Amino acid sequence: MFCCTALHGVFVMMVPAIPKRMTRQRRLVLDELKRLKNHPSADYLFGVVRQKMPNISLGTVYRNLDVLVNTGLALRLDLAGGQCRYDGDISPHYHIRCVLCGDLDDLPVSAVAGIDNPRVLESNYAVMGWRMEFDGVCPACRNKTDEDSGNGKEAPGMIAPFPRVIVTDTELED
Ligand SMILES: [Zn+2]
Ligand SMILES: [Zn+2]
Repeated sequence: MFCCTALHGVFVMMVPAIPKRMTRQRRLVLDELKRLKNHPSADYLFGVVRQKMPNISLGTVYRNLDVLVNTGLALRLDLAGGQCRYDGDISPHYHIRCVLCGDLDDLPVSAVAGIDNPRVLESNYAVMGWRMEFDGVCPACRNKTDEDSGNGKEAPGMIAPFPRVIVTDTELED
């Protein structure tokens, strides 16, 4: 069993402290995950970790990510329509994904307003949490779109950023 709480609406799962041995492999997976700021997929992280520990397998990376997530040392971001991504930054923050290149960036809590306390008023579901994703167009893609349009102005058909955040609030009220 685990309990969950919400910090600024950001999903935080608190697992009873189950001491887990920090093996060399697990330490490396965690260190590289913390170092990378791009919220890597397991495959991407595997490619990075393998350069330092050539005999590590993808399965081992997955297993260690599971342990890190389950013990609260890393976050798994189950974003809509994509591979799971992982985050070594467990401080409260939101994420924003570029709809053009798929980049996933951090959004500080202070940059977001108006989503403090969402709740389901009516549903047949036993609601366990919620999430939102912010989608947008990242600065690099915006520049590229501007260059392609040749006039430095917003290109026709450019998608205006619209809100969707990844957040899971697991505070349950009976
Ligand atoms: Zn982009
Ligand atoms: Zn993040």
